[in-house]
Amino acid sequence: MYEIRDVGVVGAGLAGLYASKTLLREGYSVDIFEEHRTVGIPKHCTGLISSYTLYLLGKPAIKSVVNAFDRYELLFINHKGDEPYRVTLRFRERVYLVDRVNLEKKLYEEVAALGGRFFLKTHINRVIALHGKYRVSSNGRVYGPYDVVVIAEGAKRVLVKKHSLCPKVTNAIGFQAMVKLREELADVPYIFISSNISRYFFGWLVPYAGREYLVGVMDSNSRAPEVFTRLLSLLRKLLSHNIRIREFFGGYIPLNKLCIGGSNRVIGVGDAISPVKPFTGGGIYGVVESVNSLSDALKLLREYGESTELAYIYGRILSQRLKRLASHHAVKGIVDLVGGFSTLGVIARFLKIKGYYVKYYDDVLRLGRPLLTP
Ligand SMILES: Cc1cc2nc3c(=O)[nH]c(=O)nc-3n(C[C@H](O)[C@H](O)[C@H](O)COP(=O)(O)OP(=O)(O)OC[C@H]3O[C@@H](n4cnc5c(N)ncnc54)[C@H](O)[C@@H]3O)c2cc1C
Repeated sequence: MYEIRDVGVVGAGLAGLYASKTLLREGYSVDIFEEHRTVGIPKHCTGLISSYTLYLLGKPAIKSVVNAFDRYELLFINHKGDEPYRVTLRFRERVYLVDRVNLEKKLYEEVAALGGRFFLKTHINRVIALHGKYRVSSNGRVYGPYDVVVIAEGAKRVLVKKHSLCPKVTNAIGFQAMVKLREELADVPYIFISSNISRYFFGWLVPYAGREYLVGVMDSNSRAPEVFTRLLSLLRKLLSHNIRIREFFGGYIPLNKLCIGGSNRVIGVGDAISPVKPFTGGGIYGVVESVNSLSDALKLLREYGESTELAYIYGRILSQRLKRLASHHAVKGIVDLVGGFSTLGVIARFLKIKGYYVKYYDDVLRLGRPLLTP
C-alpha cells in the first residue's frame, strides 16, 4: 500500500478546491492554504465551459449555470469601417456560462463538509522538503508535514517557478467588465476580431442575464486596459447603445505550453502549470483534466505500491489527457505567424465562409464542415 495520506494544497481557486474535493473523497487528509480572506476572489473569469467540463465539475457547476449557448458570432472588423464580416460557429453540444464565484463558494462548502481544513489569509512562500516529507511555510510559520503538496496558485506561478515546473512564464492579460445595456441583444456571445482592437487576440461580449453582459479583451501585453477602451468605443459605435459599466475585473491567462506536471511529490494543477487552450484562453477544462490526472496517478500508485514516481506518472497521464493542447499551440503559432486572428477574417471573406460546425468546444481545431455562402 502506498503511504500517501496527508496532502497540502496551495491556493483555493477552482483548481485547489476541485483537487481538495477529489482527494478528500478518495480518503486523503487535506489542508488548503489561501492567501485571501475568502474564496472566489479576486474575480477574473468569464466562466464559459463545455458540457464535458460541466459534467466533470458536477453539481456545484450545474447549480452555477447562468446561461447556455449553441453558437458564437465572430465579427471580423477591418480598419476601413466596412460592415463587419460575420462567421457563425455552431456547437454540437451547448457551451455553458457559469457564475465562477458561486461555483467556488459551493465547492468550498463541499470541501469543508468533507473535512478539508482551510487556512485563509495564509500566503505560502515556500515548500520545504525534509526527510521525505514536505512542509509549507508562510512568513516563517511552518505547516505540515505532508506526503504530497499540490500547487494550485494560478497563473502568477511563483512557487512552480521555484520548483522548476514552469521555468518560463508568459502570460496574457484578460481584462473585462460587467456592463448593462439599454436594450437586450440576441442571446449569443459575440467575438470581436480586429487588428484595431488587439493584434493577436480578440474581444468578447457574452450575455449574462437580462441586460447584463460580460465584455472583455485578451491581449499579450499590459496594454489590455487601453485595448479594452478601444473595444468599448467600437461597441458604442456598433450598438449605438448606452453602455453602463458595473464592475471591472480580470487577471493573467497563461500562454506557455503545458509545463512539467510535478517534481517528486510537489505537483502542479490548473493554471499553475498552464493547461490553457490558446485559442479561447479557457483554462477550466485544463483545471479539471489536471486534477483528474492527479487522481488517476494516485490510484495507480496505490494499486502498484511504488513509492517515488508520483510526478512521473502524473506527468505521463497529464500529457496524454491534454494531448490536444499541443496541436492547439501549433496552429495558434501559425495563426500568429500569418498576422493574427484578423487575417483569418480576410481568408473567410475571400472564401465566402459563413460559418463552421464545432464538434467539441474543448477542441475547436476539430471543426466540422464549413458553411459557405450560397
Ligand atoms: C479575464 C479572464 C477570462 C477567463 N475566461 C475563461 C472562460 O470563459 N473559460 C475558461 O475555461 N477559463 C477562463 N479563464 C481562465 C480561468 O479563469 C482559469 O483557467 C482558472 O481560473 C484557473 O484556476 P486556478 O485555480 O488554477 O487559478 P486561480 O483561479 O487563479 O486560483 C489560484 C488561487 O491561489 C491563490 N494563491 C496564489 N498563490 C498563493 C500562495 N502563494 N499562497 C496561498 N494562496 C495562493 C490565489 O489567491 C487564488 O485564489 C479566464 C481567465 C481570465 C483572466
